[in-house]
Amino acid sequence: MHEFSMMEKILRVILLEAKRHSAKNVVEIDLEVGELTFLNPDQLRFAFEALSEGTVAERAKLNIEKVGVRIKCPRCGYEGPISYEGPEDHLGYLPRFLECSVCGSREPDVISGRECMIRSLKVRASSRQDAKKMPEAI
Ligand SMILES: [Zn+2]
Repeated sequence: MHEFSMMEKILRVILLEAKRHSAKNVVEIDLEVGELTFLNPDQLRFAFEALSEGTVAERAKLNIEKVGVRIKCPRCGYEGPISYEGPEDHLGYLPRFLECSVCGSREPDVISGRECMIRSLKVRASSRQDAKKMPEAI
């Protein structure tokens, strides 16, 4: 399952970061998930709950923010959002399916929509509240 393997990676980073800050537990996690990752937020939550059980991240609040697709077209110069209906692509063939909404070029550069990153992480230290911004790509 796509979501499970992705959440394994995410959780690994979270736990590492929590350890680095001697956190007692993780309180809140903000995730940014690009539309082109085809990660289902409900599945991600489910995977998180299952995988975080017994760790310091157990019962942390998981916020998932969807990031839309933005492209830059090398042919006509259009830069901005496009809507993408599918198909799902987990193998990196996407440019083949993406199309510039202005000139129809099939080779737009994807600026955003592919990311899956932890935008911030709130952890509770043993004795004090500790919040930290941690932009980190996975
Ligand atoms: Zn174009």
